[in-house]
Amino acid sequence: MQKIKHMKFNTKTIHGGQKLDPAYGAVMPPIYQTTTYAQSTPGGHKGYEYSRTNNPTRNALENAFASIENGTHGLAFGSGLAAIDAVLKLLEPGDEVISTNDLYGGSYRLFTSIYKKFGIKFHFISMKDAENIETYINKNTKLIWVETPTNPLLNVIDIKACAKISKKHQLLLAVDNTFATPYLQLPLDLGADIVMHSATKYLGGHSDVVMGALIVKDRELADKLYFIQNASGAICGPQDSFLVLRGIKTLHVRMQRHCENAKAVAQYLSKHPKIENVFWPGLENHPNHKIAKEQMADFGGMVSFTTKGNNYKEAIKIVERLKVFTLAESLGGVESLAGHPASMTHASIPKEEREKTGLLDSLIRLSVGIEDKEDLIEDLNQAIN
Ligand SMILES: *Cc1c(COP(=O)(O)O)cnc(C)c1O
Repeated sequence: MQKIKHMKFNTKTIHGGQKLDPAYGAVMPPIYQTTTYAQSTPGGHKGYEYSRTNNPTRNALENAFASIENGTHGLAFGSGLAAIDAVLKLLEPGDEVISTNDLYGGSYRLFTSIYKKFGIKFHFISMKDAENIETYINKNTKLIWVETPTNPLLNVIDIKACAKISKKHQLLLAVDNTFATPYLQLPLDLGADIVMHSATKYLGGHSDVVMGALIVKDRELADKLYFIQNASGAICGPQDSFLVLRGIKTLHVRMQRHCENAKAVAQYLSKHPKIENVFWPGLENHPNHKIAKEQMADFGGMVSFTTKGNNYKEAIKIVERLKVFTLAESLGGVESLAGHPASMTHASIPKEEREKTGLLDSLIRLSVGIEDKEDLIEDLNQAIN
């Protein structure tokens, strides 16, 4: 279905990169649950030899990834971390990486516990001011790793400004686009070289698949990553590929509602007398509101807040009292989730370290789902009061 050359975003989520099934015209690509493909003569096949290398269901998903991110090539992996791992395998011992300092914990763990011992050096810095990046660049620097908006404080980093620096020094710029999704921001259009996703979150969208994605717009870089994908083998299965492809088809309508509900929740919390601070890039008092407005189409479904008095136990009580929001890790599904970073995702970071980056004891993170916003607000209201 490449009947239209320049599809708009909502059309792309449904049709981008998709072909009708040649066998029976199935509208959805079949789940090709197969490891191998018959050959008529050695090497005589229809483009598929072995499912680690290539699988038609996975390829349909990879084409959808490429389409929605305005890339030319997409790659699917068994998890978001497997996708990041593939990017790091582009590097060699001695190479240096400059990364955001408030990074997804799993990315930080992969960088510091696995790749550091293979001789790769990481600088975790504030990218509030993109020029700060330049102070850390030397002849060994190869990669800038950006996550925006960040987790759980929803800081927004200027991708275009980062791209200017990466181009000037001929570095790769990779952007973890998990929180924003291509509905809100298109890092490749802003000058990034690689877009990464935990498709486990908004792309899948239904809290039922763990998966990762990479998207690029350069043939040579794509070939290197395909080589790593096949050589290291961290691929995802056809069933999971099917589910994420299905998820992507409603990405635009889900994101629209996530943003609408998050706005209502953020506004409600902002007026609540017991709430100290609300973190949502759409609020005018958010420190990066200006760049968020320039770079993003809307402000996303993630909202964090702290309570007055910054009481650890009180925050735990609030999340325990919630009834519509489920107390759970992860994000980006249709159902609303709540988390308490200090006791859950960030518990392993000492309190003093946590608080240095603004991650207070009373901080609660919400992944605002697509239920009725009145019910979400009523739930928060009974839990907070
Ligand atoms: C969840 C997440 C990851 C890791 O993805 P997995 O699919 O859990 O491996 C990476 N980055 C961000 C921003 C995430 O939220």
